[in-house]
Amino acid sequence: MIFSSLEKALKKAKTNIFSRLNQFFTSKDAIDISFWDTLEECLIESDVSYQLVQDLLIELKTSSKENNINSYDSLKNELKRILIEELDKYKKDLSSNIPQIIMLLGINGVGKTTAAAKLAHYYHNRYGSNPLLCAADTFRAAANDQLSIWAERLNIDIVKHQEGADPSAVLYDSIKAASARKKDLVIVDTAGRLHTKKNLMAELEKMMRIAKRESNPETIEVLLVLDATVGQNGLSQAKAFSQHLPVNGIIITKLDGTAKGGIALSIVRELRIPISFVSTGESVDDFLPFSSSEYCNVLLDI
Ligand code: GDP
Repeated sequence: MIFSSLEKALKKAKTNIFSRLNQFFTSKDAIDISFWDTLEECLIESDVSYQLVQDLLIELKTSSKENNINSYDSLKNELKRILIEELDKYKKDLSSNIPQIIMLLGINGVGKTTAAAKLAHYYHNRYGSNPLLCAADTFRAAANDQLSIWAERLNIDIVKHQEGADPSAVLYDSIKAASARKKDLVIVDTAGRLHTKKNLMAELEKMMRIAKRESNPETIEVLLVLDATVGQNGLSQAKAFSQHLPVNGIIITKLDGTAKGGIALSIVRELRIPISFVSTGESVDDFLPFSSSEYCNVLLDI
């Protein structure tokens, strides 16, 4: 079944993002001191970083005073408004700039290869793009194999080399193949061995130079894939990658798992990068563009 909205997909995945926050809002009936303490705890438990929680609470308290908000529902709506504003700070309109190259970054196991296939499927269905998959994780034979299976399943062209080949060479060949075969989108699956390893970053930087040299730099999208179930660790991964590469969007995966969801807020705040897509399962359709209002509806069970 294809879900048209993120809200439905998250609800179907029975996600427990912010579950405690939801329970909290349904169980409370008075706004007293303990209300603010418990709200603080709930937000921190949901993986919103400490400083951001403090800022959000100050804003909520101030606006509830200024606007004379004392009903429960109004306060919840006000929190939703604040969260949406936070999440939309660096928002980009996906449809106004269809990329020609998407480089996917992230450590092993976050869902990068799966996201490459899902993105190909999404751009083809939504914008009629003709994608080509570039198997640039030459470090692991399994990654190549997995991407090939997706390519066959979705009937998408793939360019791959032998295990151990130079990923930049695979990228170069992919760009040339795309132009010869009239493909308009190259989706690049990259290696994700330990993000702290310097040589991985050097390898990714080299690929970026090739991509820029061989195509219009304006049409390159660098998306970082983060597994929502790893919480605050995802934030340090994101920092490590974004120090080396110009990450322009985040894909949050595994929101159907035990994710707490607040990490989305911390990422946007700390890295000033928008969330572009979310993944809520292993099937190709469990992948949708991010919508802050739908996300917050689920967070706050509205
Ligand atoms: P990579 O190492 O980053 O390329 O990660 P993979 O794409 O190989 O994914 C690792 C595992 O996570 C695979 O078993 C995927 O099926 C699974 N996976 C990817 N995205 C999701 C998701 O959104 N939800 C769930 N539950 N599993 C996912």
